[in-house]
Amino acid sequence: MKDKLLYEGKAKQVFTVEGEENLLVLSYKNDATAFNGEKKEEFKGKGRYNNLISAKVFEYLHQNGVKSHFKEALNETEQLVEKTTIIPLEVVVRNVAAGSIVRRIGVEEKTNFTPSLVEFFYKKDELGDPLINDAHALLLTDAKEEELVQIKEMALKVNEVLQNLFKEVNLELVDFKLEFGRNASGDIVLSDEVSPDTCRLWDIETGEKMDKDVFREDLGDLMTVYENILTRLEALK
Ligand code: ADP
Ligand code: UDP
Repeated sequence: MKDKLLYEGKAKQVFTVEGEENLLVLSYKNDATAFNGEKKEEFKGKGRYNNLISAKVFEYLHQNGVKSHFKEALNETEQLVEKTTIIPLEVVVRNVAAGSIVRRIGVEEKTNFTPSLVEFFYKKDELGDPLINDAHALLLTDAKEEELVQIKEMALKVNEVLQNLFKEVNLELVDFKLEFGRNASGDIVLSDEVSPDTCRLWDIETGEKMDKDVFREDLGDLMTVYENILTRLEALK
């Protein structure tokens, strides 16, 4: 099935698929990185958790009308996706203040954002993924103005759907990062992953952090937390 290694990133390997120009295999690695790659550690089982969690999330998004690259989980660490040309934006949605926005604009952590905020970061490791505005996004990507509007609408729809999903398993969706890409038909579809690496999730009852912040801030055993998220999602019918 999988053929040549096309790209190796910090969290995944991307493979071509034999005889299928429009498909890719994403292979989830056990590496965790933070602070633009400065902090790095390997966690046994992480690739499996993120692959299975992301697959569950994309299946749920599909059931709720969100168009994405996701086809199917192939095994414990790999999934089949539609090949897209990634628009180099990290689209961040925030419901509650945490992370970089607290440092950037001085809002207090845990401030509620109503309506939710959508931010664009330019996906460029060498620059440390800077925050950009719409004019910058038009300059730096091939997305048209109406496509930026569409991307923001899709990001807010994903937020609505995932707030419901995570609420069902007692988790508050604090914030998350999405990537969008253009498929062979030219349509913009949700791509990449949605996992505890790319979302902030807080336990609704205890307020505990249940995401990559456990690694960023050395709060405990990251794999126990990721296993807990997968178990909660698997318990849903
Ligand atoms: P990074 O490149 O930030 O280190 P990863 O290790 O997660 O991230 O690598 C996965 C790469 O695959 C990312 O660059 C991501 O943009 C890209 N990608 C995700 N989904 C698709 C897709 N459907 N088609 C093409 N590329 C994709
Ligand atoms: N995020 C991500 N990849 C990045 C940057 C951020 O998945 O390269 C996610 C992060 O996990 C959080 C949200 O996007 O859920 C907002 O992150 P923030 O801007 O607060 O950045 P931080 O400095 O905390 O990484």
